[in-house]
Amino acid sequence: MNAQVLVLNQNYEPLNVCNVKRALVMVITGKAEVLEQNGLVLHTIDDDYRAPSVIRLAALIKRPRPQVKLTRREVFIRDGYACQYCGVRTRDLTIDHVMPKSRNGPHTWENLVSACKTCNHRKGGKTAQEARMQLLREPFRPRAGAYYTIQRKLNQSLQEEWAKFIPGFEPLNSYSSLSYGGDD
Ligand SMILES: [Zn+2]
Repeated sequence: MNAQVLVLNQNYEPLNVCNVKRALVMVITGKAEVLEQNGLVLHTIDDDYRAPSVIRLAALIKRPRPQVKLTRREVFIRDGYACQYCGVRTRDLTIDHVMPKSRNGPHTWENLVSACKTCNHRKGGKTAQEARMQLLREPFRPRAGAYYTIQRKLNQSLQEEWAKFIPGFEPLNSYSSLSYGGDD
């Protein structure tokens, strides 16, 4: 019952993931149809059900595009896991305040960048200019792409039957940078 079910909008856009029980309730009440099953069989008092793996909503749901949450990991993803001063790609990244915290630099997308330890140490409490360093690009607030929510809920456990419904899916742990706005 703990298996995840991929929920597609009526237009086949991936919306969410939910558990099998919730998916079955939606199917039984006519709110969704089953597109894929994964072979698991659920036994209830009345009947046996094959567990859905992918369901599609009967009605189109409109929802606002989600905001990308400002976290360390999201800053690294936005920056493609590359130090924004020297360009080195590494897992061993830190967060640098472009305008240093000690000078009231804010905790915002526009003031936070990924930096390798060497660059962060070199920059210290200075501005980039004072430290004679240069940002590779101006930091920005990323836009969430169509698959933003789903990619972060999947937690890298992409089920085989789901792949065709999630074009361009990339496990979060890969080094490649995710696109935020290019797919809509
Ligand atoms: Zn660096």
